[in-house]
Amino acid sequence: MAGPLEGLRKILALERTKKFADAAVVGGLDSYLLRFVHEHDIAISHPVSRVMQSLPPGGYRSLHPIQRRRVVEELMRASENGAAISQKPSPPPTPAKVLHMPPRKPATRKPAPKAAAALPGKVLGTVDSPVSVLGLRRPDEEKFRKLGLNTVRDVLFHFPTRYHDYSAIRPISELKVDEEQTVIGAVWNVSSRLIGRSRKGTDAIISDKTGTLRVVWWGQTYIARRLKEGMNVALSGKVTEFRNRIQMENPEIETLEDESLHTRRLVPVYPATEGLFQKVIRTAVKMAVDMFASRLDDPLPAEMRRRLKLMPTAEALQQVHFPDDAQKADEARNRFAFEELLYVELGVVRRRREWTDAGGAPALAIPKTALDAFVASLPFELTAAQQTAIGDVLRDMSDETPMTRLLEGDVGSGKTVVAAAALLAAVASGYQGAIMAPTEILAEQHFRTFTARLAPGEGEAPADEPWFQASGPGYLVLEAAYMGHPVRAALLTGSLKASEKSAVQKAIAAGEVDIAVGTHALLQEGVAFHRLGLAVIDEQHRFGVEQRAALREKGGSPHVLVMTATPIPRTLALTVYGDLDITVLNEMPPGRPKVKTYRVLPYRRQEAFAFVEKKIAEGRQAFIICPLVEESESIEAKAAVQEYERLSRNVFPHLRLGLLHGRMASSDKDAVMRAFRDHEIDILVSTAVVEVGVDVPNATVILIEGAERFGLSQLHQFRGRVRRSAEQGYCFLLSDSPSPESEERLSIMETVDDGFQLAEEDLRLRGPGEYFGTRQSGMPDLRIAKLTDVEMIMRARDEATRLLDQDPELTGDGHRAIRDRVSALWDRLNADVS
Ligand code: ADP
Ligand code: MG
Repeated sequence: MAGPLEGLRKILALERTKKFADAAVVGGLDSYLLRFVHEHDIAISHPVSRVMQSLPPGGYRSLHPIQRRRVVEELMRASENGAAISQKPSPPPTPAKVLHMPPRKPATRKPAPKAAAALPGKVLGTVDSPVSVLGLRRPDEEKFRKLGLNTVRDVLFHFPTRYHDYSAIRPISELKVDEEQTVIGAVWNVSSRLIGRSRKGTDAIISDKTGTLRVVWWGQTYIARRLKEGMNVALSGKVTEFRNRIQMENPEIETLEDESLHTRRLVPVYPATEGLFQKVIRTAVKMAVDMFASRLDDPLPAEMRRRLKLMPTAEALQQVHFPDDAQKADEARNRFAFEELLYVELGVVRRRREWTDAGGAPALAIPKTALDAFVASLPFELTAAQQTAIGDVLRDMSDETPMTRLLEGDVGSGKTVVAAAALLAAVASGYQGAIMAPTEILAEQHFRTFTARLAPGEGEAPADEPWFQASGPGYLVLEAAYMGHPVRAALLTGSLKASEKSAVQKAIAAGEVDIAVGTHALLQEGVAFHRLGLAVIDEQHRFGVEQRAALREKGGSPHVLVMTATPIPRTLALTVYGDLDITVLNEMPPGRPKVKTYRVLPYRRQEAFAFVEKKIAEGRQAFIICPLVEESESIEAKAAVQEYERLSRNVFPHLRLGLLHGRMASSDKDAVMRAFRDHEIDILVSTAVVEVGVDVPNATVILIEGAERFGLSQLHQFRGRVRRSAEQGYCFLLSDSPSPESEERLSIMETVDDGFQLAEEDLRLRGPGEYFGTRQSGMPDLRIAKLTDVEMIMRARDEATRLLDQDPELTGDGHRAIRDRVSALWDRLNADVS
């Protein structure tokens, strides 16, 4: 019987190559092992079983990779030396399978010889046992696995999507068109066949005392095999009218022999997969709830549950699956949703505290006269929103708690000047400030802005000089008379010569530079600051844990200001961004007309191109955005190259086109953007990479191909590119095969100009993952809670704060379970993001 052990060894070897990430088998090694001993009747005394018994209660999964390595080695040995599988002495008398479960005791590495004796005679399993303990047939088990239901726990937390309400059964004669209703009747005539011209499906006639009803299941021919004439069924679904007769399309179906529907008002309906019947799921869930729900520990402290009137876990599981009434079902679900949000908030609040509790930031301030003089030197009036924002930022910086503020405002809303005021406060207090942008050209743009702003009267002169090539100290001294002393600024980018770079770095380290401007790499590239008081991070909506760590290493805890043009919906502000304070620039500088936005149907594409041509003849510039290609960046780049060639050859042969995509070297990207900025290019053909903001006020048209594939927020960002001056901007949204839904989505763009409204809409339509691009959401998977319930999120946040006030590390007795869940949730997330 070398076969099965051979299989086990293969899995173990695979696990080894996967660096003990518990990734060798779907569902994890724990459930694999349980299944393995179970299916092959491995005796309790077999060395493999012994190793399993030595695992801690949390199983293999709960171990550190170093400990896992040891376990895998031991299992390897056990499966070799233990060689043959000795049969169990006698088969179990009942159909309930005997499983060897890890005993609930602390981990001991050595296989304990007494462990077998310590096991109860027949263990039916724990909540972490495979679903087979619920008595499923093998094919059903397979389907459960397809749904991601591997263990009893998974089944317990497989919540119904809705409930059939059998208290509201209608006679057929009283059915109303266009409503969801339930009827009970007998099946007449069932067949599976072509219905109408070309669609296959099942159709049937159902009758009760009051009439007959035609029922159609499109595409679901297997239903015909299940229904037999004369059978009593309950159907729930929408009633429609077809040729003057009512019918039901694709209703949920229950055969009444299935269970005692009459005794239960609300019957759960579960997410299923083809061929897996509700009855099977219900039976398994029922068994899981009856046998295991009461064995689950409730992670929430009793005090909290009482105060917030939350159902205990066991009761909530019972009520979510088999509710007494709709209200109980809601209460139960809310309990789990709250629990989930609590873990999210605990992670968020803790992350925030780690940063702020460290304290030790310098208190920075700028004299009022200097600030007023700076504002007066600007060629425009600040908007009210900018004034508020500057107030928020300066207030934060005046304190020793490090600021972590997110400044969000649409493209063009004027974030840079807020950053400038903050940087001046650092300088006025004798500290250094740094501002970092995602690209070199953006860094350059900031540098130009600052040098122009801080040296009034000198115009743009300094920026056009290749000042950093001058010998001597690699920085620029700006007059900034109102500061009482000159301000020294330096630009540090990758395209500096090595010698220049090291000169600038030295100057920064010696404190001879007051404001350092660079790319995000400024943080990473081993730049040592003399006294960094403030770091501004531009065009980045995430300020990650790693960046904070990098900053700390730069010495102390500087204040941090993050700036983004991505609007953050309120619920995300409380969750993903919950560790940041947020200021919104909700006002555009005056004199910027709204971008005129049009959906363009495929057959009118030529007209849109003609319009572009006309604007270019008037001396303007344009963007053409290529469709998003999901498969890979390289395929997307290829598509962009093709589009660029096609447009250059066939559509705009006499114009100057440039190309920008994610696969280009960043120096090439910068070169193209520079050429566009300097009007050496008329049309910039680009993938979504152009999103990140460069100021080219002369570009007034943007044409977006495959618009339906982008999120509303992203489309809004694109169109912000052509709203940078008093010139009217135009945005054309093209899609080749628009579906009715995408048509509707795009039409929102035509009328709504508010970035927040679009963001909320986006979040509602596509969820947070899509909203930020996959896996970038920074949001743990919510399985139960919806990210729409602001009130519940706020309550969870309050509780998280209260709990962490009591027990900052969650090491207290009643808090262990909570702590484990919080780390499980956030560890998984961090593993995903990195
Ligand atoms: P963003 O928020 O996209 O970073 P910027 O700070 O680059 O916006 O500002 C966009 C443009 O608007 C710049 O040319 C800037 O000089 C100008 N600007 C900023 N604030 C105002 C204002 N209050 N009134 C008029 N123009 C302004
Ligand atoms: Mg900007």
